[in-house]
Amino acid sequence: MEMLSDRIKNMAESATLAMAAKAREYKARGINVISLSLGEPDFKTPKHIQQGAKDAIDEEKYFAYPPVNGYLDVRQAISEKFKRENDLEYSADQIVISNGAKQSIANVFQALINEGDEVVVFAPFWVSYSALIELAGGVPVYVNGGIESDFKVTADQLAAAITPKTKALIFSSPCNPTGSVFTKEELLELSEVILGHENLVVIADEIYEHINYTGAHASIGALPGMIDRTVTVNGMAKGFAMTGWRVGYIGAPLWLARACNKVQGQFTSANCGIAQRAAYTALTSDLGPTREMAKEYLRRRDLVKDLLDSIPGFKTNLPQGAFYFFPDISAYFGKSDGETSINNASDLSMFILDHAQVSVVTGEAFGDPSCIRLSYAASEEDLREAIRRIKEALAKLS
Ligand code: PMP
Repeated sequence: MEMLSDRIKNMAESATLAMAAKAREYKARGINVISLSLGEPDFKTPKHIQQGAKDAIDEEKYFAYPPVNGYLDVRQAISEKFKRENDLEYSADQIVISNGAKQSIANVFQALINEGDEVVVFAPFWVSYSALIELAGGVPVYVNGGIESDFKVTADQLAAAITPKTKALIFSSPCNPTGSVFTKEELLELSEVILGHENLVVIADEIYEHINYTGAHASIGALPGMIDRTVTVNGMAKGFAMTGWRVGYIGAPLWLARACNKVQGQFTSANCGIAQRAAYTALTSDLGPTREMAKEYLRRRDLVKDLLDSIPGFKTNLPQGAFYFFPDISAYFGKSDGETSINNASDLSMFILDHAQVSVVTGEAFGDPSCIRLSYAASEEDLREAIRRIKEALAKLS
């Protein structure tokens, strides 16, 4: 007997997690798989942040249910961070802390969307946006920035995608999966379109803020007239190597922050108290370790760019942030090694796993079926070996 809801039956499985599971399966069979499929920093959480959590345990003050939206002093620290680093004015009661930025985004869609509402999604996009929109009863409307335009959607494209049903727009900058970064000028052009539509909220996912090689992260919410229209999503996972601590947060217009608080109060209640204390330490300390990690990612970006460009048929942009490459590999479509035919990016990802023992993710999951995504949050040794194997395996295709 199977009694699953239509909602769950229709829901896409996270492609990145599915690929990671497949890679683990191979590893369990003793196969030496190099995993470039997950967005997972390979650094340890900096020591002073670990210490913040240890101190919190020793203080024995943080074992009870925290307020649903997070401890007040942590929300105040986030409010100050927004002001100091991003020129964003959100008071502490406009902040909601959640179990990762993923839950932050899920809350926002649950709070905003009625059945049939449209959400413009800049593509390529982070895999979970579409599933979370659909789960809330919304309809994702994809607008594609192609590799020719560094994967960036223009203001004109945005304007053309907006209909009377459009409730929100979501994008990430720096972008997962393309590494593209919107400049302040580009965001200004987008904001002019947004301000022309009264009932349109922007969800700006800035979780890769600190992994930005342009030297200037710009927040759309800081632009004239935009703060009342913008939900800024951020979190500890990427910039502080804290994926497993599960701390994400939003700054939002008060009416929406309150609604997210209400949603979260029913789904999960507050995020873990000790994890919040670790986040507090991170948010109130010097960003030195974060800057060091970003420097290392930049070094790897340059290395991987050269290595990928040496593979025939790979077309890459030069990512300006995050830690992914999203090469266009469509030159391989229609090729075969005599046994396996490559007809799409999923075929190529499987071919790479089977023949190079490297896990990557098909671009279909991110809204661009010509591409695959590789994460370079891995050691230099693994990156060199992985790309060497990929190149060798692909040479069998003709
Ligand atoms: N947004 C983007 C663009 C991401 O890449 C990720 C993590 N892969 C998230 C949000 C979710 O972050 P968290 O781990 O805090 O849930």
